[in-house]
Amino acid sequence: MAEKRDYYEVLGVSKDASADEIKKAYRKLAKMYHPDMHPGDAECEEKFKEANEAYEVLSDEDKRSKYDKYGHAAFDPASGGGGSGFGGFGGFGGFEGSFDFGDIFSSIFGGGSRGSSHRANMPEDGEDLLSSVTITFEEAAEGCKKEVSYARIESCPDCSGSGAAKGSKPESCPQCKGRGFTTVQQQTMFGYSQSQRPCANCRGTGKIVKNPCSNCNGKGRIKVKKKLEVNIPAGIDNGQRVILRGQGSAGRNGGDNGDLIIEVLVRPHDIFVRDGNNLYLEVSLTFAEAALGAEIDIPLLGGRTTKFSIPEGTQTGTRFTVKGEGVTDLNTVRRRSKGDLIFTVVVETPTKLNAEQKKLLEQFAESRGEGKGERKGFFRKIFGK
Ligand SMILES: [Zn+2]
Ligand SMILES: [Zn+2]
Repeated sequence: MAEKRDYYEVLGVSKDASADEIKKAYRKLAKMYHPDMHPGDAECEEKFKEANEAYEVLSDEDKRSKYDKYGHAAFDPASGGGGSGFGGFGGFGGFEGSFDFGDIFSSIFGGGSRGSSHRANMPEDGEDLLSSVTITFEEAAEGCKKEVSYARIESCPDCSGSGAAKGSKPESCPQCKGRGFTTVQQQTMFGYSQSQRPCANCRGTGKIVKNPCSNCNGKGRIKVKKKLEVNIPAGIDNGQRVILRGQGSAGRNGGDNGDLIIEVLVRPHDIFVRDGNNLYLEVSLTFAEAALGAEIDIPLLGGRTTKFSIPEGTQTGTRFTVKGEGVTDLNTVRRRSKGDLIFTVVVETPTKLNAEQKKLLEQFAESRGEGKGERKGFFRKIFGK
């Protein structure tokens, strides 16, 4: 089984995040990776399950404190509870959990039938919006600014969101007296029963717009195209997200604005491969350079180079490290601590030798005593890969 990611990392929150922050972060992920949005996408399903699992633990005070103390071992039956002998937390990886998903999913999918008559003037958070931006490998390593274009729902500026034309105001709905719902009495075999329904006359808003605003057709909200300059922090990696709080669609009735979530896609580099904050590179050496030693130019990010002394007698496959020439650690933007550049040398066997060169090599071999007697020490046990 693959190593489990840290639950805080999964939700993208800090260790001291509040319950509210945890819930918000989970809602965002659940919405982004919900299987209904990505049918058949195994990776999304995996991420969705991972987020559910993390939320099940971190949303429960008791489980969270156990997790903080013992990590994943706290919930792993096989590990015997990390030496402290608890266990019996089952039901991961699905909807069998003991906490209330309904609450979260009603806000993700815009509220179901539950309690809709009471939602008339309730604050409602604006929608989170997803966008993506593609940057180069070096932009990711160094950080950059990018302009993103997207569309969001805003409150109509002409009518300040009321939906009523200039000089007029929405009026209180006469049918429900502005309450947004009507009470229905029904006689059943058990007597009278009362139930509340959203008012049909005002669609549950409690207000009637007689003279609608022409800019938003009385809706009070309009779709607006936005351009934003986004700071992409140095050290960001492919697939990571930048979240701009409050830049999503506008909330209603005093609800918070949604967020703009920008997925960052990083183009691969021609020669560097990144793993965490380290960069990896392969460097060819001629046979003479490897045998005699040489000072060679090593390419760095940003088109720079550095001199590096290869010692004599360097074998193919040897790794060398150029300290601090990797990628900035995303979590230390201020200090700008960087990873390393690690290069592996590959010694190239000379090819297309002319007659004179062949002769020289033969003489060379002879002077080394090669080719006589038994081959010794040419075989070594392979360790690892
Ligand atoms: Zn308007
Ligand atoms: Zn009404």
